[in-house]
Amino acid sequence: MLGDNLLLLSAPRGARICLRIYLMEMARKNILDLSHTQLKEFVCSLGEPAYRADQILWWVYKKLAISFEEMTDLPQTLRQKLISGALLSSLATVAEKISADGQTRKVLFRLDDGRTIESSFMLYGRAGSSRERRTVCVSTQVGCPIGCSFCATGQQGFERNLRPGEIIEQVLYFMRSMNKEVDTDLARRPVTNVVFMGMGEPLANYEAVWLSIEMLNSKQGLNLGARQITISTVGLVPQIQRLASENIHVELAISLHAANDELRNRLVPINKKYPLKQLMAACREYFEKTGRRPTFEYALFRGINDSVGHARELAGLLQGLNCHVNLITGNPTKSKEFMPSSRNTVLAFQKQLTASGISNTLRLSKGVDIEAGCGQLRSRWIAIR
Ligand code: SAH
Ligand code: SF4
Repeated sequence: MLGDNLLLLSAPRGARICLRIYLMEMARKNILDLSHTQLKEFVCSLGEPAYRADQILWWVYKKLAISFEEMTDLPQTLRQKLISGALLSSLATVAEKISADGQTRKVLFRLDDGRTIESSFMLYGRAGSSRERRTVCVSTQVGCPIGCSFCATGQQGFERNLRPGEIIEQVLYFMRSMNKEVDTDLARRPVTNVVFMGMGEPLANYEAVWLSIEMLNSKQGLNLGARQITISTVGLVPQIQRLASENIHVELAISLHAANDELRNRLVPINKKYPLKQLMAACREYFEKTGRRPTFEYALFRGINDSVGHARELAGLLQGLNCHVNLITGNPTKSKEFMPSSRNTVLAFQKQLTASGISNTLRLSKGVDIEAGCGQLRSRWIAIR
């Protein structure tokens, strides 16, 4: 605190006021950062009985409250303490785009330190026997430390991990905004699925991601089934093993993109640390321990990883593993090296994979207008279907 005060004294007056407000905000606990147990402890530290935590959670996750004033069954004194000592939000909306067909929304949020992240919402109509899905794609880091050569986020470098509340609020944002819809089903179940496929590598921010998953899954939180939650990872082997031993068995997607170490080292540098043999063993272990069939993401880039030979190699790697492959046409980024494969090449790749007996899905393009320039998210949302 002494350091903070010295900082304040040396700054001009306007900046001092902003800094003081910022430091006061930082000292306040964001309720969304807390697990159920931590919230109980916090409530007790305010001199209140622990069961008040359940009431607060009910307001936050069931009633989607955005202020403590709304929590009318809490005593006035507690509400006052919460207003002065806690927060319910730390994201500010900077921009929101809605696709022409109205089915995709993409939001840019500003964090409390001025940095920005993006999140998306996508509506998928009923397909065959599957129900309508309302999927939120969340970011877990500002930038990404992994630096995959074909990825727009990787090219931006790494700034920081997101806190649990910053992850959860991305989901709450869409729930809160749709909660007022006239369509009763939409109002009752505004979000059915959450995918950790936005900016960043979720397993490199394990603790915060896990706390957010607990709150998404918990009956007192958003009550989303574990099957409705998907983590996408570049393949951090120790963290995949840790995930396999957790008590909530979420869906796992692995960003593979190459089926031999030489090529994968080039596309996904972390492969040098965790080569394919280790990664495949971790995927097998995940399936054995959780019963969740892993999905492999494979983005096709022109002349890089998209030949029929590459398809055969992929089939060979996955032979005998209970899994599914999502084929995606690569998204162009600033890098001229990685261009999308042509439609015919993608179709030939898929044909070979299918002929080799590998379960797969291909989405060529959904033409989502608002994703232009993102370089990353669109294909994935489409592919996860
Ligand atoms: N870091 C995690 C999750 C975020 S990236 C991961 O890598 O899995 C989300 C997905 O977008 C990953 O599958 C990633 O490989 C893919 N992706 C990144 N850049 C892409 C591009 N230019 N074209 C297609 N998919 C891309
Ligand atoms: Fe990070 Fe995933 Fe992009 Fe790789 S693909 S740089 S792991 S966000």
